[in-house]
Amino acid sequence: MEKKNEKQQAPKGNMPKFNLSWLYMIIAMMLIGLWMTNEAGNTSREISYDEFQQHVRNGYINKVIGYDDNTVEAFIKPEHVKDVFKNDSNRVGRSPFVITEAPARENLGNFLEKERELSHFDGSINYKRKQNFWGALFWQIFPIALIIGFWIFISRRMSGGGGGGGLGGGIFSVGKSKAQLFEKGGATRVTFKDVAGLAEAKQEVEEIVEFLKEPQKYTDLGGKIPKGALLVGPPGTGKTLLAKAVAGEANVPFFSLAGSDFVEMFVGVGASRVRDLFRQAKEKAPCIIFIDEIDAVGRARAKAAAMGGNDERENTLNQLLTEMDGFGSNSGIIILAATNRVDVLDKALLRAGRFDRQIHVDLPDLNERKEVFGVHLRPIKIDSSVEIDLLARQTPGFSGADIANVCNEAALIAARHGKKYVSKQDFLDAVDRIVGGLEKKTKITTEAERRSIAIHEAGHASISWLLEHANPLIKVTIVPRGRALGAAWYLPEERQITTKEQMLDEMCATLGGRAAEDLFLGRISTGAMNDLERVTKQAYGMTAYLGMSDALPNLCYYNNDEYSFNRPYSEKTAELIDAEVKKMVNEQYERAKQILSDNKEGHNRLAQLLIEKEVIFAEDVEAIFGPRPWASRSAEVMDANKISAELKRAEEQQEERAEETEKEIKEKEESNATKE
Ligand code: ADP
Ligand code: ZN
Repeated sequence: MEKKNEKQQAPKGNMPKFNLSWLYMIIAMMLIGLWMTNEAGNTSREISYDEFQQHVRNGYINKVIGYDDNTVEAFIKPEHVKDVFKNDSNRVGRSPFVITEAPARENLGNFLEKERELSHFDGSINYKRKQNFWGALFWQIFPIALIIGFWIFISRRMSGGGGGGGLGGGIFSVGKSKAQLFEKGGATRVTFKDVAGLAEAKQEVEEIVEFLKEPQKYTDLGGKIPKGALLVGPPGTGKTLLAKAVAGEANVPFFSLAGSDFVEMFVGVGASRVRDLFRQAKEKAPCIIFIDEIDAVGRARAKAAAMGGNDERENTLNQLLTEMDGFGSNSGIIILAATNRVDVLDKALLRAGRFDRQIHVDLPDLNERKEVFGVHLRPIKIDSSVEIDLLARQTPGFSGADIANVCNEAALIAARHGKKYVSKQDFLDAVDRIVGGLEKKTKITTEAERRSIAIHEAGHASISWLLEHANPLIKVTIVPRGRALGAAWYLPEERQITTKEQMLDEMCATLGGRAAEDLFLGRISTGAMNDLERVTKQAYGMTAYLGMSDALPNLCYYNNDEYSFNRPYSEKTAELIDAEVKKMVNEQYERAKQILSDNKEGHNRLAQLLIEKEVIFAEDVEAIFGPRPWASRSAEVMDANKISAELKRAEEQQEERAEETEKEIKEKEESNATKE
């Protein structure tokens, strides 16, 4: 069941901490104080009736107010303020006055009339009733109350309103986390059955479920369970759903919030919300915390402090890191976070013991879409004309959320037409409507685009199959992933060293995508940007750091001094490096084109198969090109990706301790197949 955190009990015996609310209180007090002193700006002084008469005779007075209780207020002419308020004449305010007590109203009247005749007094005389004390008090208090009321209103709005009554819900909950808590065993329990497709991702989170179910089994053996996992993938692919399913399967509470919930306009709020979240989670352990869009807080911190940057966000991130390090891996809290952009995340978040595993949650392919339709058609009354197969074919590039939307929309359309059951045509209309809406913002691909992507990916696949030293292929797909349009997976071998031949073969295979477009479509596209970036980096690495080019053999210009921006080589060498890189890449590009035109027929069959099936595996490629003739390669060869990842790091000149790097790469490679 859904439950807001505000309703939860605060832990007993908690000392009031110095948090933000206090700061706001102090500021408010100061404002009120300031306002009050300002109001009292008109100084007054009590004097005797004699003195008052003297002032009138001297012509100092320009206005007299006589009250019914015989008190008199006499306002002083500006030019005579000095004579009346001798010492503190510069602190008297705008219209200073003196107060005195007249013997009776008539006496005052007579006296002033007489002085007016003698032209000592030319001001005005007013007779008033004395305001009663409570009225005066009201006018004193009312503006303050107004300010406080306004302030409460504002702070409640900022903390999202809602929740506990009065002051408590407003000002004091700014620093509270806004996590939504789904209690275990609630009516809305989600399980793996509700998550269609995502077989690999499910398999990876299985271990987390096991741990949450039976922590002793692991802790007794001294085992360590990851504290966090990162779900990486585009929006609407079921990351939240998967995290919920993990909680549902393990039957533990689930805290859900978005990264942006931490970020508030007040300094310090984010960090205190993180603290509060973990405090709540510890009470409920074992449990799962799900942070959607973690990039809102987890973006890489500014490298140099001098560059400025968002301090508030950095504080929040630091607090998150501290909390993650603070709880033991046996405490039963597991954090799942979702993002579409791992590349912008701070490296510290991805270190071992934090979010050290990444689970890819990608757009569904044809068969996965069928499954998703299966899940979302369950509650809908359909007639026999509806074919899941056809629907899945009609929706390439749709995410799980889009498909859920199609099913819902179809039901609405059918209802609008007064039908009893939802039919095929309603679904097709719904697809059309949603494609229209989606085209602009997501990666819905047209028929022609799909063909172009298929030719590109088939280019990679063919060449890597046909070259001896390229990595063995696992899977190729034309379903858009992240910012890449298609993808191919390879099995990296356990290698420590890579030879030049291997690197060149990898480069050739990476260029195979664009070469295929060039050859078979007669035009090149933007789809190859990632490939080209990788190839260029690799070629620079081979030339400048690995001494593998013909013109600069055995020279390493690697510069690991992160504060030096000088290149450790001359301008001339720089030109030479550029030239060598160009030469190397061009050679491999021509080689790729040559291989593809020699195997034109096989490539085209592969591309056709990809268009039909969206995903193909090594067996499909083998069926076309025949088995690879080369025996399994020696184990002492390092993966090309490993090198290029290392070179990338070197280029960013990021300080990272050596063992950590080693560990990170190994673990990453174990958990993910390499991606294209
Ligand atoms: P994300 O967190 O990745 O943006 P969500 O988990 O919020 O996406 O998904 C939104 C909705 O889309 C879900 O509530 C569900 O109805 C539907 N959905 C997405 N992926 C799947 C899937 N694999 N299986 C079933 N439903 C899905
Ligand atoms: Zn490519």
